[in-house]
Amino acid sequence: MESRCVLITGGGQGIGRAMVGRFMADGWRVGVLDIDSESGVELLGEPGAADCLFFSQGDVAADADVQRAVDGVVDRFGRLDALVNNAGCGCGGPEIEEWSVADWQRGLDVNLTGAFLCARRAVPHLRRWGGAIVNLASTRAWQSEKNTFSYSAAKGGLVALTHSLAVSLGPAIRVNSISPGWIETVDWKKASARGEARHSEADRVQHPCGRVGVPSDVAELAVFLADSAKSGFITGQDFVVDGGMTVKMIYV
Ligand code: NAD
Repeated sequence: MESRCVLITGGGQGIGRAMVGRFMADGWRVGVLDIDSESGVELLGEPGAADCLFFSQGDVAADADVQRAVDGVVDRFGRLDALVNNAGCGCGGPEIEEWSVADWQRGLDVNLTGAFLCARRAVPHLRRWGGAIVNLASTRAWQSEKNTFSYSAAKGGLVALTHSLAVSLGPAIRVNSISPGWIETVDWKKASARGEARHSEADRVQHPCGRVGVPSDVAELAVFLADSAKSGFITGQDFVVDGGMTVKMIYV
């Protein structure tokens, strides 16, 4: 059987990069749309990339870039079975009085509108192959630190967009989201941005699972949710992957 194909946004670094490897290990061909061209060059140099990886540099918030990536991956691999809306940026900022409307809008554009644009362009192909969409939301859809206005709002919107897409696109296409908690991505950055992860004992023990998350914790679930043979009766759901942080009561 011809192998399936997934488009992963923000696949150049971090959780998305781990997903690229995990999907390839399961025999998927992978398209990546990422704004960072340096990470694209690195990805294309990975073992096995020549045969089963396509990279398109662009911004998920720009419809022309999204269209070019979808067209490119379908031209290259002949099909599109799954879309992972993983690209995201920016979390905190200054006090609300210091926020510009442009900063607020950019947060919504990348973290929410980008997923809508990618879904809109991918759906005609996904319908054909009985596909799936996986959106990367965040536990910040449900909880906040201070001054994370557009990020939290966008991630909450992404959880809502997930069930809206699920009821609109089913039964041909299933749509779910993953809400990660603290996932350490330092080892998965492009070479020039790689650093050293520093976690204190307190960082670890505050998680009921006893550790901070790693990208593979999320990538495993993304592959499962993209695979209709395994998760074919699951749609419209949000899955929290946070080592138990959001169910822990805190008294101070
Ligand atoms: P990251 O910063 O390590 O990697 C993000 C990738 O997306 C980068 O390669 C970047 O170049 C790309 N990107 C950013 N803006 C883009 C744009 N406009 N268009 C195309 N590509 C763009 O991020 P990460 O920590 O791996 O996060 C991945 C996803 O998971 C994001 O949606 C993030 O909000 C979500 N998330 C992460 C965590 C965490 O702790 N790491 C927690 C909750 C949710």
